Amino acid sequence: MSSKSLSLRNISKRFGTVNALDNFNLEVGVGELVALLGPSGCGKTTALRVVAGLEQQDNGLVMVSGKDISDMPAHQRNMGMVFQAYSLFPNLTVEENVAFGLHMRKVNKHLRLKKARELLELVGLDSHNKRFTHQLSGGQQQRVALARALAFEPEILLLDEPLSALDAQVRVNLREEIRRLQLSLGTTTLFVTHDQEEAMAVSDRVGVMNHGVLEQIDSPDTLYNKPSSTFVASFVGTMNRIPTQISNGMVEIFGIKVVALKRGQESGNVYALVRPESIEVSRVAGAGHAKIITRSFMGASSLIICQTPDGSVIQALMPSHYSGDLHPGEEVNLHITLNEVLVSNV
Ligand code: ATP
Repeated sequence: MSSKSLSLRNISKRFGTVNALDNFNLEVGVGELVALLGPSGCGKTTALRVVAGLEQQDNGLVMVSGKDISDMPAHQRNMGMVFQAYSLFPNLTVEENVAFGLHMRKVNKHLRLKKARELLELVGLDSHNKRFTHQLSGGQQQRVALARALAFEPEILLLDEPLSALDAQVRVNLREEIRRLQLSLGTTTLFVTHDQEEAMAVSDRVGVMNHGVLEQIDSPDTLYNKPSSTFVASFVGTMNRIPTQISNGMVEIFGIKVVALKRGQESGNVYALVRPESIEVSRVAGAGHAKIITRSFMGASSLIICQTPDGSVIQALMPSHYSGDLHPGEEVNLHITLNEVLVSNV
């Protein structure tokens, strides 16, 4: 596999008055899996289509291992693609589907069927090689699409919501399989999804887009724990927005003073951004009075939703074995387990 790096440099793409990509920059290293995440319409699919050559950018460069391919037609770019719709050929068998790209590249029949069978074995479908696509489940069809995209050893693999048509359990299994395959083959991969959990679970790095720009690109851990903007902080995972006041770089949360990490505003009303797992609910005395609205048992942890006297709704995530005796309607106290928090003015 001759995997390559991918760079998008200052890419702009407009559709009428919409700036789908606005001076967009992205670097994907050799063998890396990067997911693009962001709200609907932020430009994820457009970025992928520009890489594939299916959309021509107005400005900027697409580079593969340092070579400018901006003007290269899509069919000459050596990229494997898997879309949400399986888009297999219904009149071809599974192995003929997988071999199709090799057929287009004039590889002889013996070699292309050999390669197709190797790939089908990798995705666990070697015993289904003679079937037609209508004889397969959705998950199996998407495995065939993946095998087809990888059969001609693409320099870059592009995945556009490849799992969104599948059931939850199949989705989880297949995303793990994609990651296993991608790691073993070392294929540089760009993955577009609107599913945060999916993006965080399989990627080396996740890029969060907003209005056609990349707001932050980092490892899933960094993105979650050290968001660089309030947009990323609020978009990735669940975040409580607790109204409070900032003064001398400190905010008071549930009666405790903690350091404010962003100090755009020196005094006045702000929101403290606190993850549910950084809040404890207990009967221990404190200043964070609240009433439990619901407790949802989720196995190892439970989500407890509370309301404070000012009407704010606060979510707390606690180990189930510490929260089993907390019940809806009960008066409790909230405690923060951090000594510094992000704050937002809006
Ligand atoms: P989603 O998560 O909903 O699929 P996305 O982040 O993939 O969204 P894009 O499909 O890249 O977003 O679209 C970015 C913006 O460009 C949107 O405002 C969209 O309406 C617009 N757009 C995309 N393709 C076209 C097109 N062919 N013609 C006109 N506008 C388009």
